[in-house]
Amino acid sequence: MTKEKEQKFLQQSQTLEQCYFSILSQVKEMSRKASRKDEPTLLAVSKKHSIEKIKRLYLLGHRRFGENYTQELLEKAEQLSQYDIEFVYIGRIQSNKIKKIVSVAKEIQSVHSLKHAQLIEKAAISCGKIPFPVYIEVNVDDEISKGGITPEEVPEFYAQLKRQCPNLSIQGIMSLPSQKHQRKHPSISELPNAYVTLKQLAKKVGDGKLSLGTSQDMDIAIAAGSTEVRIGTALFGPRIS
Ligand SMILES: *Cc1c(COP(=O)(O)O)cnc(C)c1O
Repeated sequence: MTKEKEQKFLQQSQTLEQCYFSILSQVKEMSRKASRKDEPTLLAVSKKHSIEKIKRLYLLGHRRFGENYTQELLEKAEQLSQYDIEFVYIGRIQSNKIKKIVSVAKEIQSVHSLKHAQLIEKAAISCGKIPFPVYIEVNVDDEISKGGITPEEVPEFYAQLKRQCPNLSIQGIMSLPSQKHQRKHPSISELPNAYVTLKQLAKKVGDGKLSLGTSQDMDIAIAAGSTEVRIGTALFGPRIS
């Protein structure tokens, strides 16, 4: 999307503040519909969105922001160093960037290799951020374009993490299922299999958390017991690439 198109989009649509409160009430309503006693937290996925927008949500009391790209994360963390923001890394991990990511991130949700986990632990120890919270990323639909291990690989990987990385605090499962599952307002009894798999898997891993649901599938994810939804587009509008 070009700058001009984005401008137009922003003029036609709700303000960021309106979108924020709307998302919060949708999360509440979807949780109620799914007969949940709790409701998921909101990770505001701010990748490719401006520091200005992050500051506006901060003023509303929001603290958790998700980022996918190391360089962008580092720049934002530096410019927002006076703010008590929790940056959560949800992007692809490269070994040579891990030290930098750990130095500014509060948590990493996209862990799916033992090598990365060991490097995260080492970096966390050296900057005094232990125990460091991580999620295991699961590629539930086995898509080549996405990171993560298969659901079948989770028990073995989880056991390895516990054994070899005692300074990581394993929160649970993170996943970005295929868009093919998305449709509006499913009942809990007809959840797509992929979501049922994730729901069951998360209960057996670490603290049992489930980071699941984007602007596209928030309703299904909440019905599947997501404990954190990761919302970008529905909050900030389309990303400029
Ligand atoms: C970009 C991204 C999101 C947010 O997606 P939207 O459709 O913009 O809400 C969530 N999770 C991950 C892993 C992402 O990369």
